[in-house]
Amino acid sequence: MAKKQEEEPVEVQLPPVTLTPMGAPDKQQDQANLLAAKQSPAFPIANGLLAHCLSRRGERVMLDYAAQGVAVRFEIDGVWMNGDPLDRQTGDAALAVYKKITNLNVQDRRSKQNGKFGVEFSGGKYVASFTSQGVATGERVVITFKPKKPKFTKIEDLGMRDKMRAKLKEQLDADSGFIIVSAPPGGGLSTTWNLTLETADRLMRDFVATEDKDNKEDEVINVSAKYYDRAAGQSPADLLPQMILKEPDVLVVPELTNAETVTLLCEQINKYQKQAYTKVNAKEAAEALLKVFAYKGPAAELAKAVTAVLNVRLIRKLCDQCKQPFQPPPQLLQKLGIPAGRVQVLYQEYKPPPPEQLVDEKGNPIVPPICQKCGGIGYFGRTGLFELLVIDDQIRAALSAQPNLETIKRVAKAAGHRSIQEEGILQVAQGVTSINELQRVLKQ
Ligand SMILES: [Zn+2]
Repeated sequence: MAKKQEEEPVEVQLPPVTLTPMGAPDKQQDQANLLAAKQSPAFPIANGLLAHCLSRRGERVMLDYAAQGVAVRFEIDGVWMNGDPLDRQTGDAALAVYKKITNLNVQDRRSKQNGKFGVEFSGGKYVASFTSQGVATGERVVITFKPKKPKFTKIEDLGMRDKMRAKLKEQLDADSGFIIVSAPPGGGLSTTWNLTLETADRLMRDFVATEDKDNKEDEVINVSAKYYDRAAGQSPADLLPQMILKEPDVLVVPELTNAETVTLLCEQINKYQKQAYTKVNAKEAAEALLKVFAYKGPAAELAKAVTAVLNVRLIRKLCDQCKQPFQPPPQLLQKLGIPAGRVQVLYQEYKPPPPEQLVDEKGNPIVPPICQKCGGIGYFGRTGLFELLVIDDQIRAALSAQPNLETIKRVAKAAGHRSIQEEGILQVAQGVTSINELQRVLKQ
């Protein structure tokens, strides 16, 4: 690994951040808010936190306000990392900057407040969602960056292999059936959902979607959306009858919401050979199936309608600049189910040597070298561990008779279905990720 010659504070090298105020009733007020924010002595600090996070490819900044100070954390590739804490006065002033540019109430430190502002950094444009909420210890602030241009445009970009993509495409483009997309909370569900829709053939078929007006999905070309008002007690079932009149080929319902919706979709699939797609938070395909059954729609009809479940778990990739090879002991390979002789080395994340080894020839302490690429995290970027469960008659029978996790998993395994864990071990064997990381992801 290349040794960094001169240690400079990271912030010094960071490009500037440009903020766009949002949330005021008009542009003048937005500009006045920005002007006021810029006059704050904490403006560079507030900017620096955002720049620091984005420079490390971070997705979120979390600030925890307590009496003694402000804890700063950055979420990088789905894992929270500690940043340098701020003193309370500086933290308060930085928070006032964020609340100003989102047109929120600076004085209110208790109520939940939501807002948005625009960020430009190093050629990238983001919409930052801001949330603050009073908690027992003080106040918690989360800023989430959403890139204006999606990071991934094809499902292969997320690590899906060609063979699985072909199988998924076959399911997506079938004449009828019910497709479920799932991922754990905060684990890439919306990205996978968008990329699944991108994979489907939307040119030759009519896609219509029904979404909650307060929870709109990202736009996908050739999918026209109609909105219901969930807060007012509406559900997709209120819009579907009208949408069905136009005889669309595919009904896209991101949130099933209730039994009535499931009933309507099953009828369209089983009686009129239509397709429906939905998504749900789940850790594995079998769990996703059960969650859809939990809406208490007609179980027999649903078992007949479901055709495939695509589940994803995001796993961090080892940084290719600093990953460390090691020879796996035979017992470890056996435990992982990797046949003897198949792999010579596995990889693990870089760990700095213990402090007693961090000395030069003369015994003077030295600063451990930091990998330029990953900043010493040992991981860089994420990939998807995909599980595509195609529902066959055995699984249908199990769903009708004994809809429980273990039964469905057992039946799926017997049919040759590869689990997320097996998929993960494959990635470990290929040196893409580490055993530690796989364990972390499987434990979630
Ligand atoms: Zn590295």
